[in-house]
Amino acid sequence: MSYEVNSKVKILEQPQTIALNAIAEQLKSEGKDIINMVLGEPDFDTPKKIIDAATKSMNDGFTHYVSSMGLPELRKKIANKLRVENCVDYDPNEILVTPSAKFAIYLALTSFLDVGDEVLILDPSWVSYKALVQLAGATPVNVPLNYDNNYTLTEADLAKYVTAKTRMIILNTPNNPTGRVFTAAENKVLVEFIKQHNILAVSDEIYETIVFDDNKHVALASFPETRNNVITVNGFSKSHAMTGWRIGYLAAEKSLIKEMLKVQMQVITCTASFVQAAAITAFECEAEVAEMVAQYKTRRDYLVKELNTIPGFHCRVPQGTFYALPRVDYKGMDSNKLCEFILEKAQVLLTPGSAYGLGTEKTLRISFATSIENIEEAIQRLKKIFV
Ligand code: PMP
Repeated sequence: MSYEVNSKVKILEQPQTIALNAIAEQLKSEGKDIINMVLGEPDFDTPKKIIDAATKSMNDGFTHYVSSMGLPELRKKIANKLRVENCVDYDPNEILVTPSAKFAIYLALTSFLDVGDEVLILDPSWVSYKALVQLAGATPVNVPLNYDNNYTLTEADLAKYVTAKTRMIILNTPNNPTGRVFTAAENKVLVEFIKQHNILAVSDEIYETIVFDDNKHVALASFPETRNNVITVNGFSKSHAMTGWRIGYLAAEKSLIKEMLKVQMQVITCTASFVQAAAITAFECEAEVAEMVAQYKTRRDYLVKELNTIPGFHCRVPQGTFYALPRVDYKGMDSNKLCEFILEKAQVLLTPGSAYGLGTEKTLRISFATSIENIEEAIQRLKKIFV
């Protein structure tokens, strides 16, 4: 059989992590004890209340199609959360419940982009943004931010890459992989930029609950000047350790939601009914969420302190998320080489910073969504090989 691959699919790249995982699998099959610090998901169980709600819902027969917009009660809870925690007013009809934040981003991109449109992505950036822009037929434009000034965003960075074809900007705070949270000054730059060019902003705020110290997450939609240009993306995967449940949501002005709803209706009909019913209970889990964040903080403090004692390592303190992104100056190795070296010599699996695009030279992404025992062991092993 002969076939032609869709041109948008043809250009999609496989994540760099796949090659590393293959090496890790090989080493495991040889009986090596690998510590995996690649995972972008909480190592905690989903809170019991949420599991109980899902089970009850299934036992009660709530296992059929539901509204494509999402359960009214869940949308009401989300709207209330956005008002109370994020200071932004959305009507429940401006909330669309989606099967994951990733699918929410897919909806936002496919609904509003066309061939030839340019989308600004601030690098380092989460691996899927570029691919999702390409799948929408548009052109990703990577805006490099700089390790040396702690990836601070300025007006000049954006001015350099904006063109008449720029239709959208994708933002992510707290940021995967840098652990940065946008400052008030950066938010001001963004609001001015969005207003001036009248473009859409997709604001991925999936890590919003995982912030440390005095850092504060501010929702981009909370600035009245740009509220109607912003599509807020969020979900329960990171905050409530619900990665496998596949549930997220979009919040945006009604006319934008209407278009994304059409795509959702045609592509997946609705988010799983009992998963939505369970997510309603997520709003009663403040204590469980706080406990997870407290544990991430303990791990972060230990990890960063120890990394900075290892020759060649320079690690800033992540303000949010469960990732650290140290830069390592060691025998001229780039980030891929460093990961291979660490995997081979210490049996610790890390992600090369280069997987996250520009501005990542010699960096490694280390997930601390793993037990403190694993982190301690990884540090001991790293200390032995970096001498
Ligand atoms: N955005 C970012 C920045 C992420 O890191 C991830 C998960 N790795 C997602 C979105 C996807 O979240 P979900 O599980 O809801 O699809």
